[in-house]
Amino acid sequence: MPKYDINQLSTSHRKEFGRNIDITVFRLVRFMDLKKSVGKEHYEIVYEAGKKLGHELNPKTVEEVIIFCKDHKIGMLEIVGENPLQIRVNECICCNGLPECGETLCHFEGGLIAGCLEKIFNKKVQAIETHCAGLGDEFCQFELKIY
Ligand SMILES: [Zn+2]
Repeated sequence: MPKYDINQLSTSHRKEFGRNIDITVFRLVRFMDLKKSVGKEHYEIVYEAGKKLGHELNPKTVEEVIIFCKDHKIGMLEIVGENPLQIRVNECICCNGLPECGETLCHFEGGLIAGCLEKIFNKKVQAIETHCAGLGDEFCQFELKIY
């Protein structure tokens, strides 16, 4: 797989479509059956991918993370709890509008938030999704365990 950096990945010369894609395309890629081809559950892989992106973004503040997620239409983040830290994702790119399926779906977003916070706090961070459209909620929410 080519090793493009975030700036290269952000570049597009598409005249008609620009940088936009339909959410269906994103979700088709996102929910591919990786277990069949890679032998690992997709949530393990996308969580790590999100975390790597968070590290590469190397944000200095939580505000930067909130702006990145809004600019890239990942979701509208808000801090809803301080101890433990809880971050809500409104209009989540991954799960908003999907029917309840009995499990959380937003492992990439969780990994991304954890990876960003690891850089900000210089500590290990684990994101645990507590709310999700997959569980029947109107929003996604993550509890952050900081070690
Ligand atoms: Zn979710």
